Amino acid sequence: MPELADRKKCTGCTACQSVCSSDCIEMKADSHGFTFPVINRNKCIECRKCEKACPVLNLEGVPDQNTIAFAAYSLNRELREKSSSGGIWGELAKEILDRHGHVYGAAYDRDYSVKHICVTNVSDLHKLQGAKYSQSELAGIFKEIKVKLEMGILILFSGTPCQTAGLKMYLNKEYDHLICVDFVCHGVPSPMAWKQYVLYRAREDNHGELPLSVNMRSKETGWSRYQYSNVYQYGNNSMYSKKSTEDLFMKLFTADFINRESCAACQFKGYDRVSDITLGDFWGVWDIAPEMDDNEGTSLVLIHSDKGADIFESLSDRIKCRRITLEQASRQNPSLIQSSDSKKERKKVLDEISCGNMKDINRLLDSTDGRLRISMIQRNISACVRRAVHRISHSRNEKR
Ligand SMILES: Cc1cc2nc3c(=O)[nH]c(=O)nc-3n(C[C@H](O)[C@H](O)[C@H](O)COP(=O)(O)OP(=O)(O)OC[C@H]3O[C@@H](n4cnc5c(N)ncnc54)[C@H](O)[C@@H]3O)c2cc1C
Repeated sequence: MPELADRKKCTGCTACQSVCSSDCIEMKADSHGFTFPVINRNKCIECRKCEKACPVLNLEGVPDQNTIAFAAYSLNRELREKSSSGGIWGELAKEILDRHGHVYGAAYDRDYSVKHICVTNVSDLHKLQGAKYSQSELAGIFKEIKVKLEMGILILFSGTPCQTAGLKMYLNKEYDHLICVDFVCHGVPSPMAWKQYVLYRAREDNHGELPLSVNMRSKETGWSRYQYSNVYQYGNNSMYSKKSTEDLFMKLFTADFINRESCAACQFKGYDRVSDITLGDFWGVWDIAPEMDDNEGTSLVLIHSDKGADIFESLSDRIKCRRITLEQASRQNPSLIQSSDSKKERKKVLDEISCGNMKDINRLLDSTDGRLRISMIQRNISACVRRAVHRISHSRNEKR
């Protein structure tokens, strides 16, 4: 019988399920809402295609791609405002739609679960814009993309680095008309925790009625120096608005209490990636390239391939950009090269949330605050060491 990646490493990317020709793998959610493949042993014909498609079991390391980095933002104010950072993803997506391509990304469903969907029309692009802090569901998406690629349709896929690696492993073939965009990823939060939090907010803010819209990356309080806020808009003109540094869900996310277990040992980080382009928030731009920071959001852009370079070049009259070094790119954004922490209290926190005890979590956070500060200092020190190692190995490669 095939042996898939163990639970600590499995990212839930769906490559194994998508490649299974006897349809015997089901993605099942655990009590924290993270999905894992379950093989129906009675139906399995032991072809082992699932093992071969797993990006975790077949880690090869990405060769040096001469990755280059930019600070960039869109000149379209409206588009940029709806985006998490500088709106470069929105510009790329528009370019693909202009060329009659199809764009895949993560959107909220009616109940605020997060799912990958396909957009073919600019008027629907807003559904994909902005970061959603829950691991997105990919059910059926890889197969759908393959069918379209075989028909010759231009595709832009965007997702987490592990989802992108999963898609590439499943396809097992290079397509000139597939552009993959991943992002600098801190980790993916539990879908269960996210849903519980939306329900909790609805109870606290609006007698249990779900919000009409949620924006986890509102720039109404600014963007620079992590000033963005979370805004939940309700039907009766009421709203909840909090700086992300003060919002309970964002505190749990950034302090690594609710991420998928595999995020603590992420294998898909680094300057070189399987994607064509990597996007991120250019945290630290205010120190590194202050002329690129107007408090409206600046993207970090890493270009890994000729395809990525070509499409980024085609945006040149719609964006402002400046070349930076890789060291500048990661200086204040450790998530580019470093996994999130593995928190001892993670299971306890998630178990409490799954019982609906959102209020008790506040107390737990307070009691771990001291330890949290220490672990953040440790994290920053180890990020400095890693960056130094990366710098040395890159400068050696450049000299060769
Ligand atoms: C869970 C998560 C963690 C992140 N962590 C960091 C970080 O530590 N450091 C950093 O610099 N940047 C991080 N980012 C990326 C950053 O917030 C922006 O998404 C990125 O800078 C692109 O911004 P943009 O303005 O160009 O476009 P945006 O309009 O903000 O980007 C939208 C794109 O993001 C995709 N997306 C949104 N939510 C999800 C999701 N849950 N799963 C898969 N794809 C999704 C959409 O499909 C769409 O393609 C994270 C994003 C997410 C979703």
